[in-house]
Amino acid sequence: MILLDRVTKVYGKTNTALDRISLHVEPKEFVIIVGKSGAGKSTLLKLLTREERQTGGKIVVGGIDYDKLKDKDIPLLRRKIGVVFQDFKLLPNKNVYENVAFALEIVGYGNKEIQHTVPRVLDIVGLKGKEKNMPRELSGGERQRVAIARAIVRQPKILIADEPTGNLDPKHAWDVIKVLEKINRYGTTVLLTTHNQEIVNRLKRRVITIDNGKIASDRANAQYSQGSPKQQ
Ligand code: ADP
Repeated sequence: MILLDRVTKVYGKTNTALDRISLHVEPKEFVIIVGKSGAGKSTLLKLLTREERQTGGKIVVGGIDYDKLKDKDIPLLRRKIGVVFQDFKLLPNKNVYENVAFALEIVGYGNKEIQHTVPRVLDIVGLKGKEKNMPRELSGGERQRVAIARAIVRQPKILIADEPTGNLDPKHAWDVIKVLEKINRYGTTVLLTTHNQEIVNRLKRRVITIDNGKIASDRANAQYSQGSPKQQ
């Protein structure tokens, strides 16, 4: 699904953010990416969404070789990859339903399809009944789940969640993580970056640690601290 072969990213002439990263993510995997601030996590995600271009090495996502990608193919790539950010990025003057519907309107879906799809996706993220609420009337966790609904409404193969719980208290953070797990169970590959050790420990998924632009470790079912995770 995602293949990186000795990928390097140098900003300017000398600022090496990623240094020959090689990585393989299978379809339907759930991968957590951790690392200190400045380690290169965001750069890695930006290369995948093609916000940035690699300086060296090869990136292939869903069979698309980024070296052969033309500008006109980028919208197609972006449909394969949904993205969720720490700060939600919702449209403040649209309600929950409209925020999600908008992601379909801009790519030309018809009304019927929108009316069919949006309620199903709001149901998946647990926001049934909140359709008419404005973003300001929602909790942080609910806002993030609207953002997730918007990111998955076009059924991307990959969902990238860049610190999606960074602004949330533990209860809401976990609600968001549970939604990511559900989406993953439905078959979407999930890449999650987080600084939250408890989330890493409870998820028990593959954890890739980036340090100074390199992969410092890549472990299945990684744990960060001793002791069994608390139940909720
Ligand atoms: P992380 O997401 O792990 O905090 P980043 O990928 O944002 O790390 O940053 C990795 C390195 O690349 C840092 O040294 C950062 O200063 C540098 N960097 C990131 N974005 C840019 C940019 N647009 N221009 C120049 N340097 C950048």
